[in-house]
Amino acid sequence: MTENSPVISRILSGELCSGCGLCAGVSESAISMTTVAPGYGRPTQNAPLTDEVERKIETSCPGSRVASWVDEPWQDATHDDMYWGPWRRCMTGHAVDPEVRYAGSSGGALSAIAGYALKSGLVTKVLHVNADPEQPTRNRITLSDNMADIVAGAGSRYATSSPLAAIQELLDQGSRFAFIGKPCDISALRQLSKIDERVNKLIPLKLSFFCGGIPSHDGADRIVQAMGLDPKQVATFRYRGHGWPGLTKVVSSDGEIGEMRYEDSWGGHLSKEVQFRCKICADAVGGVADIACADAWYGGETGYPQFDEADGRSLIMARTKIGEQLVKEAAANGILAVKDLPIDEIMLMQPSQARRKRLVGARMDASRLMLQPVPRTEGLKVKTAQKQATIKEYLRDLLGTIRRIVLKRR
Ligand SMILES: Cc1cc2nc3c(=O)[nH]c(=O)nc-3n(C[C@H](O)[C@H](O)[C@H](O)COP(=O)(O)OP(=O)(O)OC[C@H]3O[C@@H](n4cnc5c(N)ncnc54)[C@H](O)[C@@H]3O)c2cc1C
Repeated sequence: MTENSPVISRILSGELCSGCGLCAGVSESAISMTTVAPGYGRPTQNAPLTDEVERKIETSCPGSRVASWVDEPWQDATHDDMYWGPWRRCMTGHAVDPEVRYAGSSGGALSAIAGYALKSGLVTKVLHVNADPEQPTRNRITLSDNMADIVAGAGSRYATSSPLAAIQELLDQGSRFAFIGKPCDISALRQLSKIDERVNKLIPLKLSFFCGGIPSHDGADRIVQAMGLDPKQVATFRYRGHGWPGLTKVVSSDGEIGEMRYEDSWGGHLSKEVQFRCKICADAVGGVADIACADAWYGGETGYPQFDEADGRSLIMARTKIGEQLVKEAAANGILAVKDLPIDEIMLMQPSQARRKRLVGARMDASRLMLQPVPRTEGLKVKTAQKQATIKEYLRDLLGTIRRIVLKRR
């Protein structure tokens, strides 16, 4: 038995927790997820852990080990790319149903694919997150068995989420479900599948998205304040979606409405609140998901859309055989509209993801120099991508991260 889990202590001391909830989910109630300032999900250990639980956490926690893109049992990709990960088919597309496309963050592709997985009988439920009605800037886990509920959770929610916090309980129930979550959530599931064979049997479809990182709740509260509203009086909060990119929209409990453009809410507030673990994420593109989606911006250097509003368009990367098959069937059944995309074009849509991948190595080098723990990241092409960074870029991020660690220690 472990009184104070060494793995969790190391993860928390190095700010390596992504908030996924895996540790709580496999802990047999010994760990719960709580919110810590400035608004991130973090584990609290309430009872000793068995050796078995400690081993599960060490293997699966994405702060301890990020699932490799290569040489893994689930890996049946035909191509790979240092920035965009393993893939079989690369496309742009959108939900054919205009309501799903409109509700979605970009083209509603993830919701459409999850809905098709239900309709086809591949799964009976979909595990995803949606807005917590009590605190609408925050997320809660939900299990949906119909399209309306999946669509109610559509759209990006730039806040901490712990979709794995009940994973053991769900696996014990024995029904098959699809999973939608952040790249770190999928990494945790893939790692858990190495020691719990039910994961791949009961969760045959794992969907993810490119992730720029998880901001704190304080960031969302600042958006509400910038709109002249009170964060304690929020009745509904939508980060984006309802158009592409769609406005951030708040309705207060007395009916007042506040709106903000995506560039201002993400660029001006949320991106400044991203937790440290996400800044050293070696797989922010959902490389071990069956399908990963992203914004297929008509963009350029800035990483922001060069238009006000347009009909939504998702980048869709089918990475595994099952992912490719599902996209093909969803398209044949009139659920999803897709068009093949040359892989090189992703660079025009996602320059900031490529930049981050080039510099993750510098940031982790800084952590090592300062004797901070880092996650294991073998098989994720971190060094290959790092070679694309200029010396100036490398040094800037190395020194910037060292400075951050020094300031934090004061
Ligand atoms: C924190 C965050 C950062 C992102 N960063 C980028 C980025 O850098 N580049 C990029 O191109 N795209 C990013 N996205 C993803 C992007 O906004 C869209 O999710 C993606 O384009 C797919 O859109 P869609 O319309 O196909 O999906 P939709 O049909 O809208 O479905 C989105 C799904 O994501 C789930 N979801 C939303 N928020 C969370 C969350 N916090 N945790 C777990 N699941 C969640 C929803 O429950 C829903 O099932 C980010 C999303 C999030 C949540």
